[in-house]
Amino acid sequence: MNPQPARLLVRASILHFLADPGEHDDPRAWQYFEDGALFVEDGHVSFCGDFAALEAAVPVARRDAARLCDYRGKLLLPGFVDSHVHYPQLRVLGSWGRQLLDWLTDYTFPAERALADENVARETASFFLDRLLAHGTTTASVYATVHPQSVEAFFVEADKRKLRMLCGKVLMDRNCPEFLRDTPATALSDSAALIARWHGRGRLGYTVTPRFAPTSSPEQLEVAGELFRSRPDMHLQSHLSENTREIAWVRELFPAQRDYLEVYESFGLVGRGAIYGHGIHLSASERERLAGSQTAIAFCPTSNLFLGSGWCAHADLGRAGVPLGLATDVGGGTSLSMLRTMGAAYEVGQAGGQTLSPWRAWYLATLGGAHALALDHAIGNFLPGREADFVVLDSTRIPELDFRLRYASTLAERLFALMMLGDERCVAATHVLGERVWESVAA
Ligand SMILES: [Zn+2]
Repeated sequence: MNPQPARLLVRASILHFLADPGEHDDPRAWQYFEDGALFVEDGHVSFCGDFAALEAAVPVARRDAARLCDYRGKLLLPGFVDSHVHYPQLRVLGSWGRQLLDWLTDYTFPAERALADENVARETASFFLDRLLAHGTTTASVYATVHPQSVEAFFVEADKRKLRMLCGKVLMDRNCPEFLRDTPATALSDSAALIARWHGRGRLGYTVTPRFAPTSSPEQLEVAGELFRSRPDMHLQSHLSENTREIAWVRELFPAQRDYLEVYESFGLVGRGAIYGHGIHLSASERERLAGSQTAIAFCPTSNLFLGSGWCAHADLGRAGVPLGLATDVGGGTSLSMLRTMGAAYEVGQAGGQTLSPWRAWYLATLGGAHALALDHAIGNFLPGREADFVVLDSTRIPELDFRLRYASTLAERLFALMMLGDERCVAATHVLGERVWESVAA
């Protein structure tokens, strides 16, 4: 006899997206239930809708067996998706300094060296994952370091927490310090061993991770392409067109290619499942080709500001049809909070003349990120069968926000105030597969 499935009934105001609301805030793209119910069985969503509709949708015997979680007065959404983040760089979060290439040399590379020690990697991964959950983020696409043990440590910790996470070993065989260098051969053998052990285990997925074109030889980029093609559901992440000095350097290193994107295209590093951080200085042709191959961009607004790299043209990308996720890019970005990141996304949009609507911002932080990472079959909204990862937000935790919301009349206004004035203090609870894994204590 099978044991009874674990059932959970959650009552809250619920918002989730069914599609991209686009430039014109298409109201068919989202559902909002002021007095909503989320019914979870064995960690998966079986009903999401008005609380009043629950009775007709779920038979009483199943409802009566459920634990009740009452979050009335709070806003419940799918767990946030951070589509680009470097876990080893928590060690250098908020380090002063100039621009991308200097920042890599002065802070990032020394910090990544420390993760050669598996104990350091375990401790850093454990802290990183706990803090993600405290910020309401339940899925991320994560860079480890060049050391296979840094990926091993991350997956062990993520698996323990039953999280849906992507991670990969950084591939880097030139233009970096000797102590962080692999080779095309070890890139292949180390990645293949990690894929065999971790890809598809629990809720974990492997993402092939060449750091960016300047730090991989053509031979190593060949290997990356081979790894990406090795499984139909493989993921890939890297960086593209972040900084003008970087772009000029790529042109010198790969003179035969007409632009930065063509370097990746020529090694088969594009397609569904591939995501590139930044994409700030792209041409119209590059945007069209990204859309054509359904290669995604991770929009990293706090990093745009912190490293002074430029303004990601999120509206141009959206208009071209490029899948877009939102990302913290810690430690190039300055916070693990997707709320702060949404606020910064709006500000970067304003600076670049591309206004971001609250609907699109909240979409990007949830379903948009899941879609950009090719994980939207499993997470990102509350359709029946989706994994029940969710975040509960309490805007009363910030007095100015609470006060402001007394004067808000529409949901769009409330959502906008929450993303501009809110931060991790608003995260009242985080649930993974229905189970509460983090809860803040109200002040
Ligand atoms: Zn990055």
